Amino acid sequence: MNKIQMVDLKGQLDKIKDEVNTSIQEVLETTAFINGPKVHQFQKNLENYLGVKHVIPCANGTDALQIAMMGLGLKPGDEVITADFTFAATVEVIALLNLTPVLVDVNSDDFNINIEAIKKAITPKTKAIVPVHLFGMCANMEAILEIAKEHNLYVIEDNAQAIGATYTFSDGRKAKAGTIGDVASTSFFPSKNLGCYGDGGAIFTNNDELAHTIRGIVNHGMYERYHHDVVGVNSRLDSIQAGILDTKLPHLDSYNKARQNAARKYNEAFKDEPNIIMPSGKTSCQGICDTCDCHVFHQYTLRVKNVDRNALVKFLNDNGIPCGVYYPIPLHNQKAYVDDRYNEADFKITNQLVKDVISLPMHTELDDEQIEFITSKVKTFING
Ligand SMILES: *Cc1c(COP(=O)(O)O)cnc(C)c1O
Repeated sequence: MNKIQMVDLKGQLDKIKDEVNTSIQEVLETTAFINGPKVHQFQKNLENYLGVKHVIPCANGTDALQIAMMGLGLKPGDEVITADFTFAATVEVIALLNLTPVLVDVNSDDFNINIEAIKKAITPKTKAIVPVHLFGMCANMEAILEIAKEHNLYVIEDNAQAIGATYTFSDGRKAKAGTIGDVASTSFFPSKNLGCYGDGGAIFTNNDELAHTIRGIVNHGMYERYHHDVVGVNSRLDSIQAGILDTKLPHLDSYNKARQNAARKYNEAFKDEPNIIMPSGKTSCQGICDTCDCHVFHQYTLRVKNVDRNALVKFLNDNGIPCGVYYPIPLHNQKAYVDDRYNEADFKITNQLVKDVISLPMHTELDDEQIEFITSKVKTFING
C-alpha cells in the first residue's frame, strides 16, 4: 500500500507534470512574472467556469477577504457576523479593518453558520454576513440571502474551501459556490481544492462597480497609473501561479469527483457505526446525490461519540494514518478574539464540535486499499 498522506500533492502533480512544466517554462521565457498574460487567461477561464462576471486574482485567500470588505466600504465599528467554527483568517481580517466581528454558532450536521444564530446577532450596526462554506459544503445561502435582504446586509462568501461546489436553490436554480452573495473570496493555497504551488487567492463578484473598486484596491488604490484614489494594498497572483492554476482548472471537476468518491466510500464504511456521525448536508443526500452537488469535501470530517477523540488521533497516527482536528479551539475562545459580549451558552454546538471532530485523509489520489485500511483502523478503535 502507498504511504497514506493527509494531502497527496505529489501524486496529483505527477499526472500533470508535463503541462505544469510547460506552463512554468512559458512564463520564464516571456519574463512576464507580474500581471502577465497567464494571469488574465486564468481570470477569464475561471470566470467562465464559475459563471461569474468578475474574478479578481490576488495574493492569497486572507487578502481576498480583506479586500472584499474594503471594496464594500465597510467602516470601523460596523458589525460583521461570521461563524465561530472556521479558520481564523475569516475573523482576523474583520478585526484588522477595525470592524467588529460577531461570532455565532454553527450547525451540528453541516458545520456551517446557523441561521437562527445569525438572526439573533443582528443589531442596527450589522452590515455584513460572512458565511464560510466549511470543509467544502455550501452554507444555507438561500436563508442567508433572505436575512440579508430583510436587513439590508452584504453577503461575503468565504469560499476558500468549496471551489467547484454547486449550490441548489429550492426552486431548482443552481449556482457555483462563491457566485451567490455580493462578493466572495477564495484561496489557492496548495492543499485547497484548486491549489497552486505557492500562495494565491481571488475575489469574485457579479457587481461591475464593486469589481472596478476592487481592481484598484489590489493595486495600491490606483485606477490610473500613479493616481492613488483610495488606500489600497499590494496583492497580486503572480504569473507562474496563474499559469499553474490555469493548467489545473480543467481538472477541478474531476478532482472534486475524486474527493466525493472517497467520501462515499468512507460513508459506506461508517454507515452502521453508532458512535460515528458522518459529515452530512441539510438533507440525507450528504451533499453528493444526483440532484445536489453542494459538497466538494475539502475535508472529510467525522464526529466521534463515546470515545476519546485525541486517543483516536494518536492511534491512527501510530498506525501510519495522518489525520487532523479542524478546529480544536472555537474562535470566540482564541486569545485574539475573546470578547465580553460573548456568552458560552450561545456556542453550544461549536464547543461540542471542537471536542468531537476528526478529519481523515482527503485528497484526489486516495485509493480503495488506503480507504479500507483507514476505515478499518477507525472502526477497530471505536469498537474497542
Ligand atoms: C485557507 C482559508 C483561508 C485563507 O486562505 P489563505 O490563502 O491561506 O490566506 C480563509 N478562510 C478559510 C475558511 C480557509 O480555509
